[in-house]
Amino acid sequence: MNRAINFSAGPAVLPLEVLKKAQEEMIDYRGTGMSVMEMSHRSKEYEAIIGGAEQSLRKLMSIPANYKVLFVQGGASQQFAMVPLNLFSAAKKADYVLTGAWAKKAISEGKKFGTVKVVASSEDKNFSYIPKLTPEMFSADADYVHITTNNTIYGTLFYELPNTGKIPLVADMSSNILSQEYDISKFGLIYAGAQKNAGPAGVTIVIVREDLIGHALPITPTMMDYKVYADEGSMYNTPPCYSIYIAGLVFEWLLAKGGIAAMEKENKQKAALLYDFLDQSKMFKGTVEKISRSLMNIPFVTGNEELDNKFISEASKKGLKQLKGHRSVGGMRASIYNAMPREGVETLVAFMKEFEKANG
Ligand SMILES: *Cc1c(COP(=O)(O)O)cnc(C)c1O
Repeated sequence: MNRAINFSAGPAVLPLEVLKKAQEEMIDYRGTGMSVMEMSHRSKEYEAIIGGAEQSLRKLMSIPANYKVLFVQGGASQQFAMVPLNLFSAAKKADYVLTGAWAKKAISEGKKFGTVKVVASSEDKNFSYIPKLTPEMFSADADYVHITTNNTIYGTLFYELPNTGKIPLVADMSSNILSQEYDISKFGLIYAGAQKNAGPAGVTIVIVREDLIGHALPITPTMMDYKVYADEGSMYNTPPCYSIYIAGLVFEWLLAKGGIAAMEKENKQKAALLYDFLDQSKMFKGTVEKISRSLMNIPFVTGNEELDNKFISEASKKGLKQLKGHRSVGGMRASIYNAMPREGVETLVAFMKEFEKANG
């Protein structure tokens, strides 16, 4: 077996222990004589899988009892529409913070269903920072305020959540869910596509406060109404069974690792290894303002496209894979989610040092 050191932004690396467990259970799941892909979602066994996944997630994130956990298909991108369809219940107005390409897509989707106001933006500096937010910036009659807690492409993180008062805070947490502790009661709704830090593509986690459910716009399709998911235990129709099963294994792995607090500590140390190196390097530079640096996605450049390409290709030969940056930032990006072991980051930094010496 030859596992790459995989820095993909998503779909991203999964814990080896999880993959091995899935491999072991693949053909005959716990004596059922079938794989999880082949069993009815209405079976006792599958009920235990989806129920267990929810329970593990609730425990990991300390999700309060008045929040529902929903498993939805369609990716985080579908939430860009489901959030306004379900939460535009009063003024049909929402405030959005524009911190990157995903926020931009969320905004354009929101505009289809109501009035969207961009209350702050970091587009002036290619989204390299998180704008400062104060309570007066928000519209008193907004149905919700939308932020992207971690900006996967640009590598920025909200270190401080905005104080939105009584207005529900909605967060796209796709690329940093489970990476650090959050007080769930500060949010009205959190959503996250699984394929960054929680599991395989195909399932999106939605955590929503109960009072926000049941007010969908009349045009809302059945499959886009949170109430349908809440009432049916996310099984109005066939859920993405296998993705939920793997996500459940990831949750169990995280619990065994000591939970989110332990992960957060580890993630800060992992990120510091790379940022500390970038801060003293004469060749490589981080692209993000220091106080907004993501713990999950770390873009960096040499300032010379040819050199960037040489770095990416030589790194790949050493087993350091998927380091090419997003086209809107250029250069490189190292995504170092929960499942990236510290040794992976150490190997990357050692290679960067070597490369700088050879090419500086
Ligand atoms: C990847 C990503 C998305 C899009 O997710 P899909 O599941 O592909 O729709 C949205 N928001 C953020 C922050 C992301 O990282």
